[in-house]
Amino acid sequence: MTHAHTLGFPRMGAHRELKFALESFWRGDSSEAQLRDTGRTLRQRHWALQREAGLAQVAVGDFAWYDTTLTLAATLGALPARFGFDAKRLTLSQYFELARGRADQPAMEMTKWFDTNYHYLVPELSADTAFDGGVDWLFDEVDEALAQGLVPKPVILGPISFLWLSKVHGAQSAASAGFDRLSLLPRLVQAYRRLLAGFQQRGVQWVQVDEPVLCLDLPADWLAAFQPAYDELATPGLKLLLATYFDTAADHAVLAAQLPVQGFHIDLVRAPQQLDAWLAALPPQAVLSVGVVDGRNIWRSDLGRILAWLQPLQARLGDRLWIAPSCSLLHVPVTLAHEVKLDAEVRSWLAFATEKIGELKVLAQGLRDGVDSVAEALQANAQALAARRASGRVTNPVVQKRLQRISADMAQRHSPFVQRQAAQREALQLPPLPTTTIGSFPQTAEIRQARAAWRRGELSATDYLQRMRAEIEAVVRKQEELGLDVLVHGEAERNDMVEYFGEQLWGYAFTDNGWVQSYGSRCVKPPVLYGDVFRPEAMTVETTRYAQSLTTRHMKGMLTGPVTMLQWSFVRDDQPRDTTALQLALAIRDEVSDLEQAGIRIVQIDEPAFREGLPLRRTDWPRYLDWAVQAFKVSACSVRDDTQIHTHMCYSEFNDILPAIAALDADVITIETSRSAMELLDGFGAFDYPNEIGPGVYDIHSPRVPSVDAMVRLLQRAAEVIPAERLWVNPDCGLKTRGWPETEAALRNMVQAAQRLREGS
Ligand code: GLN
Ligand code: ZN
Repeated sequence: MTHAHTLGFPRMGAHRELKFALESFWRGDSSEAQLRDTGRTLRQRHWALQREAGLAQVAVGDFAWYDTTLTLAATLGALPARFGFDAKRLTLSQYFELARGRADQPAMEMTKWFDTNYHYLVPELSADTAFDGGVDWLFDEVDEALAQGLVPKPVILGPISFLWLSKVHGAQSAASAGFDRLSLLPRLVQAYRRLLAGFQQRGVQWVQVDEPVLCLDLPADWLAAFQPAYDELATPGLKLLLATYFDTAADHAVLAAQLPVQGFHIDLVRAPQQLDAWLAALPPQAVLSVGVVDGRNIWRSDLGRILAWLQPLQARLGDRLWIAPSCSLLHVPVTLAHEVKLDAEVRSWLAFATEKIGELKVLAQGLRDGVDSVAEALQANAQALAARRASGRVTNPVVQKRLQRISADMAQRHSPFVQRQAAQREALQLPPLPTTTIGSFPQTAEIRQARAAWRRGELSATDYLQRMRAEIEAVVRKQEELGLDVLVHGEAERNDMVEYFGEQLWGYAFTDNGWVQSYGSRCVKPPVLYGDVFRPEAMTVETTRYAQSLTTRHMKGMLTGPVTMLQWSFVRDDQPRDTTALQLALAIRDEVSDLEQAGIRIVQIDEPAFREGLPLRRTDWPRYLDWAVQAFKVSACSVRDDTQIHTHMCYSEFNDILPAIAALDADVITIETSRSAMELLDGFGAFDYPNEIGPGVYDIHSPRVPSVDAMVRLLQRAAEVIPAERLWVNPDCGLKTRGWPETEAALRNMVQAAQRLREGS
């Protein structure tokens, strides 16, 4: 019988129960016992859902109080020594200190999980990490599932992926210099052995060992490490399912097939072409788990098509065929059940985690008892898909026609940068080393409350607008007083840089509860981009014009770029991503033109997600960079030479994509650099990056107010790499999460630092 299972389920809860329980515990408003209660309730609810859908095993270990990688590090005894914790006696409060920091220790580093918006805590290893075991929490959860009469399938990150995703700290110190973390593998594997033995003793049959790094371009020595590591992991009586996801692992199918594991999971949504390679390599007894339901997006699956496609596979593999979502369902919201405001038509096209488990149930039953046994479900599914295809809300002929007419010159400024620069200097009359900010000013409680009241209907639209205008005026006055050169309106009216635009565009829908965990207790609610993107009217012109009317200084218009709009939304699966990006680009292009028409001389198009859109495999990079650059340029290139286009990106790995960054041809790019003490600029220097740059001179993630001297030093360092004539002075990113006192103090110092440098030059 075809076995359906899930690689993992979202842990937050349909109403973000875990978030609220965590935050209440952190505030000291509730006890650890209450928090533990919430965790247990959620685990059991999610297991019950899986059992009700007929999944023979339930995923255990996909729950974590903060992050599964951190929990695994605590389980293996791989905690950063600087905290001085004993992993075996780690308390929940200490666990949270690792994740969130404490007075004398910064938190463990956090970074994005592959190409998702989930952030994991980066294991912090050293040459001395002992891996001598830690907390028993995973065993407790297995016991908990067993006590419920369930068949637990523990889900853990495999040793090669764990190590690959780790960082060796203190690498500068003599002892660790040149230290290769792969040399830690033998010791790490022993810790895994003990973990697996513990599962085996509890009667576990299958353990899912995730090795998503098999979908990356892994160096040869890392690939070679698989065989010896897994030879050690072979545990009598225990079966291992080696899981890969997010891309193809076809090139490693032969290697994987030689490992002493009993099954493989592959992602056939992202990489359907890998099936043949796996079938060819599959050992005679091994299980093949095929990921056929999209774990990264929210659309209903085409069940009829999948079933027809699975049938011959089942005939070939019999019981060795398992079906699953493509990856853990962590990356989609929990359930559609509480979506009441969502447009009914759009809602009928969607499937969140719970509905996806339901889809697996239909597929498994169809395979077991024949298509007729699920005829009703298939018909409902087919109807919904047909309705989606035919819906007038999905296709907009005006947009389609315009898309076809995109020409190369639409993605090209009229003149080369040097000419534009001269025209802009003439038109803008800015001082050398102009000062500016990235866009947002503190989103105070009053601003949020006003927005909430307006959304609830307790504050009229006019009153809300008045409040926002008052806020804009205050922000403009403050910037003038601080002596900034290029002003911003402060983004008070924006709750989120994607949602704000999405709400004004056709083709976007918004959920009430479509939350997805981003990190710890934080969740994001990506909008749903379901149809051709159309801008019915100007989105920011009134606000920006109003802000400009308050001052004689230049007001920078503030937009979100097409790649970021795409990257931070759930996007359509019925057309290629680049097509959607171009539609977004056209809408933004019109907004840029309208801003220019309204007299705005400087427009910033934010692309903080430009890099995270990069495919996992380098061979796929050129194609992505091509269309991503084109989309940005279509959005930016309608303007006159003397209108200045800025872009902003906030991350620190630029070096391998500098040609694409330069190809964007933004007149000014502002980037995050302060945390790397301007080191990041070296790449721009070496590359001879031609346009103007604003390297962030202070870190906005911390309330610390940097001194004038510190910023002067950073700017001097920057000027060694980029000629001062092409430098701007700004913070690393927007200030919306900061308070006013530190914002004011830091900007005052920043303006002084710029002045000191101007005088010195
Ligand atoms: N303009 C945005 C802001 O200042 C940019 C945010 C971002 O880079 N993530 O908030
Ligand atoms: Zn930023």
